[in-house]
Amino acid sequence: MGEQKLRIIPLGGLSEIGKNMMAMEYEDDIIVIDAGLMFPGAEMLGIDLVIPDISYLLEKQEKIRGIVITHGHEDHIGALPYLLPQLNAPIYSTRLTQGLISVKLKERKVLSEAKLITIPPSGQFTLGNFKIEFFPVCHSIPDSVGLIIHTPVGIIVHSGDFKLDYTPVHGKPTDLARLAQLGTQGILLLLSDSTYAELPGYTQSEKLVGETLDHIMVSAPGRVIVTTFSSLVSRIQQVIDSAAKFERRVFVVGRSMNDIVRMATEFGYLNAPDGVLARLDELKGMPHNKVVFVTTGSQGEPTSALVRIANRDHRQLHIIRGDTVVISATPIPGNESLINRTVDMLFKQGAQVLYDKVADVHVHGHGSQEELKLLINLVKPKFFVPIHGEYRHLSIHATLAQSVGIPRENTFLMEDGDVLEIDQQSGKIIDNIATSNVYVDGLSVGDIGGVVLRDRRMLSRDGMVVVIIALNRQTGKLIGRPDIVSRGFVDTRESKDMLEESRTLIARTLDHGPNRPADWGYINAKIRDVLHKFYYEQTKRRPMILPFMVKV
Ligand SMILES: [Zn+2]
Ligand SMILES: [Zn+2]
Repeated sequence: MGEQKLRIIPLGGLSEIGKNMMAMEYEDDIIVIDAGLMFPGAEMLGIDLVIPDISYLLEKQEKIRGIVITHGHEDHIGALPYLLPQLNAPIYSTRLTQGLISVKLKERKVLSEAKLITIPPSGQFTLGNFKIEFFPVCHSIPDSVGLIIHTPVGIIVHSGDFKLDYTPVHGKPTDLARLAQLGTQGILLLLSDSTYAELPGYTQSEKLVGETLDHIMVSAPGRVIVTTFSSLVSRIQQVIDSAAKFERRVFVVGRSMNDIVRMATEFGYLNAPDGVLARLDELKGMPHNKVVFVTTGSQGEPTSALVRIANRDHRQLHIIRGDTVVISATPIPGNESLINRTVDMLFKQGAQVLYDKVADVHVHGHGSQEELKLLINLVKPKFFVPIHGEYRHLSIHATLAQSVGIPRENTFLMEDGDVLEIDQQSGKIIDNIATSNVYVDGLSVGDIGGVVLRDRRMLSRDGMVVVIIALNRQTGKLIGRPDIVSRGFVDTRESKDMLEESRTLIARTLDHGPNRPADWGYINAKIRDVLHKFYYEQTKRRPMILPFMVKV
C-alpha cells in the first residue's frame, strides 16, 4: 500500500455542462479522463467552442501516462483535436469511441500524430500506478464505459455518462453485476454523473423513442426528416429499423452525418438491411411516403443541413407541404432560441414538426435520481464526488448520496480546479489550481482571453467611435479638423450635430496644448477622456473610443 495520497483534479465539467476532463495523479503518474468541449454561452461573443485549461498538465507533461475516454460525445472527446498536439499522450477508448475520435482528429488534420489504443468494453490495461478496467454502461451512444481504477490507495469507480436502461438499442445494459461484486470488496471513491440529478424517478428507455418513430413512419403522410446529433448512433439505428419496417428508404444528408454513418457501419455499430440506405440521386420519382432523411441540425447550428433547409438555402433538399420533421435531441442550454427559430421556419413552410415538448421523440442518456441512488447503493463507496453537472446538479446529487447513507463529511462538492487528496482513511480538498476557459475562435485556440471578450461585449453594447487626427511633426499642432467615424453607437444622420460638436471639442482640447512635439500617450488619453465624458452626458452610452494619429 502506498504512503502517498492520490490527487483528483477536475479540469472541466464540474459546475458546468460540457468540457469534461479530470486528472488523477499518484506519485509520478497522471492519467487524464476525457477531454471534452463546451458550446459557448450567449455572453461569449463570437466564440466557437470552449475547451478545458490544461496548464496544470503541461507543467507535468512527463508524468502523463495516457488519456482515457469514456465515450464518444463531444463533451468528452471534442477538445482532443485542440489539446492533443500539446498533450501528446496515447488515447485509450473503446472501438466506436476511437472511430469518432479519428473523425474529429482528421477534420483538424492531427490524426497522423495521434496514438489511439482500442480497449474492449470490459478490457483492462495499466498506466503506471493505475490499473484501469472498463465496464459497459448504457448511455445514448454505443460502446460507452465507466471506469474501475485500481490505485495504490484503493479502488475508484468513475461512472462516465450512464443510465440504467434495461432495454437499450445497442449492446448490453449497464454492468450492474460487476459493480455489485466490487461493492463487496470495498470501493474507496465513486465519481458519478450528475447531469439529470434534478429528475425524480427513472429515465425512460430508448425503446419508447423506437415506438414513437414507428408510429411516425407509419402515419406520416409524406416524407419524414429526422434530425439528431451525428454521434447518436443508436438513434440513427432506430430510424433505420423503423424505416425498414414500414418500407421507407433512408437518405443520409450532410457531410458529418455521412462520415459517421459510414464509420459506424464499417465498425459494425450500425446495421442497415440491404436496400434501406439510399443515395440522394435515387430520390427522384420516389413516392413521398417512402422517404426518410437523416440529418444534423438538432441544435439549430447555423451551418447545419436542417437550418439551411429551414432557410430554403439547401442545395438538394427543401420542405414540401406534408413533410414531417422530427427533432430527436434535447436542446443544449443556450441553443433554445436558435432551435425555436428553426422550428418556426419549418412550420411556416408547411412542415409538421415534432420535438421533445410535443412528442416522445427523444429520451436523454443520463440516469435520474432512482438510478443514481441505485448505483451508490451497489458500489457502496467510502467517499463520493458528484461529477458532470452545474453546481445545483452536483449539490442535489450530493444530497442524494447522503440520503442513502454516505456521510456528509465523506461527500465532496468539487468545482473545476479543486484538488482533492485522498488515502485509505481520509479525503480533503486542499487547493484550487487556477483554471479558466480556453476559447476557440475560428482558427485560433487560446489567444482570446477575458480582455478580448470584454472588448467584444463593450462593442456589442455601445458600439465604437474612431477619431482620426493629423498633427504637425515639429510643432505638435493640430492640422485641419479631427475626423470621426462611428459604428453601432448612434444614427449618424440623426446625431450629426452631436458628432460635429465632438469634433470641435477635440480640436479645442488639443489646441490648448503647449507648443511641443506630440506625446501620443498623453493625447490618446486626453481624447478618450473628453469624449467619454461628452458622449455619456449626451447619450448615457459608453462607446469604445479609438484615437488614431497621423504625423505630418
Ligand atoms: Zn455523453
Ligand atoms: Zn457527457
